[in-house]
Amino acid sequence: MVLLRFAPSPTGALHLGGLRTALYNHLYARKLGGKWILRIEDTDSARYVPGSVDGIRSALEWAGLGYDHGPGKDGAHGPYFQSERLDLYHSYTRKLLDSGHAYRCFCSSDKLNSTREKLARTGSNVTYDKACLSLTEEEVARRVRAGEKSIVRLNDDRLPKRQTPSDIIFGILKDAHASLPTDPVLLKSDLFPTYHLASIVDDHEMGITHVLRGEEWLPSLPLHLDLYSCLNLSPPQFAHLPILLNPDGTKMSKRKGDVQVLDFMRRGWEPEALLNWLALAGWGVHHENGGTPDASPSRTSLQAPDSTTLMSLSELIDQFDLPSLTHRRNILDPLKLEYLNKHHLMRSWQTNEGIEIHAKRVSDSVKIAFPSSPYTSIEYIVEVIRALQGRIVNLHDVPSLAPFFFIEPNYSTDEAKAMIRSMTSSDYNNSVQAVARRLSVQSSETIDISGVLHDEADKSGLKQRIFMTAVRHALTGMKSGPSIPEIVGVLGIQRTLARLKYAVHMGHVDTQSI
Ligand code: GLU
Repeated sequence: MVLLRFAPSPTGALHLGGLRTALYNHLYARKLGGKWILRIEDTDSARYVPGSVDGIRSALEWAGLGYDHGPGKDGAHGPYFQSERLDLYHSYTRKLLDSGHAYRCFCSSDKLNSTREKLARTGSNVTYDKACLSLTEEEVARRVRAGEKSIVRLNDDRLPKRQTPSDIIFGILKDAHASLPTDPVLLKSDLFPTYHLASIVDDHEMGITHVLRGEEWLPSLPLHLDLYSCLNLSPPQFAHLPILLNPDGTKMSKRKGDVQVLDFMRRGWEPEALLNWLALAGWGVHHENGGTPDASPSRTSLQAPDSTTLMSLSELIDQFDLPSLTHRRNILDPLKLEYLNKHHLMRSWQTNEGIEIHAKRVSDSVKIAFPSSPYTSIEYIVEVIRALQGRIVNLHDVPSLAPFFFIEPNYSTDEAKAMIRSMTSSDYNNSVQAVARRLSVQSSETIDISGVLHDEADKSGLKQRIFMTAVRHALTGMKSGPSIPEIVGVLGIQRTLARLKYAVHMGHVDTQSI
């Protein structure tokens, strides 16, 4: 059975990149009938941000990505906070020290800095002069006994024969070892492990079969493989997920817009749409360079979904496949999120239950936008949603998309004024009055509004466009929106009539206007 893990550090809110990693872990685990663990990598106390674990958990819950084991969900693999697993890291450190694959270093950070600078000035890519490697066992023991602080380093002179690292998505990594620091640190002087040691120990101890993580960890892969071979352990398989980019090719960052999942939650995006968007951004482009380790002919025949294919979480699980992920940097285009959100909404309105759940959310945002509006009942808002369907990109937009359903139209906006600038007041009044007259004599809910409009427009001798603009103006004060019969259907005959009469009475059109 496959076992995966999502291993965020609690250094702040969950970003889109983190959610994408969690999502791919979830998809792959579910696809293969396996499980995934949430592991909190909290070994760097300087970067710890209180509240981040709760934030990460609630973002995952909102997204519907339920981990199998982790904080609050115990199982055989705990504890799930690395800070509670220190004994384990110490015992692995001991093994590495005993086998000579690691050694203690007592150099102060000042000394290390000046050594690094000196080496860099000579053009060398060596980052440490291995001074402490020559200490005798007795000397080391004496200094430890005396309480002197030390760190533990990997001895990269004593590595077993290296294999060329390979990654499921990035393929074979040539010269990957070149960027590693000299004798990387495994255990810090506060007795906490570095990320590298903790990560390989936990992945092994927890029985992880596949590591899916961000591309920023790809340079660490050779070191992790070295550690596995020093310990005589077989490594899991690795798949690194490409960095996410804005449509202009720049890296996503807080300065350039929303990157935190919380921003998307607050903004009212549907979790299924967000997952659909994230999943497909990196999906479907095949490894044209043939760089993947086990490229097989059948792979090229995989049918990749287009980046705007509407897919639910279960459809994503069904069609997910690691080799079909691209190694190219993934562009996240906000327009595609809008498209997907709109269509996920429409899909969920095919059932009464779906539309009612959304009506409740819209009702809450109408109450905030228009606190004195009496039109916030679920039944009323269901009608509003039906009338607006196809125009709603995000549920949060409903109050601003069609305020006239909740409050009286605002006729003093530039938009409202522009609508009637091209007609005379008598054309306006005649149009609006004609419809008002018909509705007041025939005021029945079964009235054929579209028939009435066409009839009266014909009789008026005015251009249809002018006639309809006048009526739309009177009812909404806005240029676009649902059809007039749909608007009347939501408002009801009495509110419609009241608006038409009020509009005429107000005399909106300046006779001097052209
Ligand atoms: N703790 C790392 C992070 O938050 C994840 C590294 C990994 O998945 O191995 O980016």
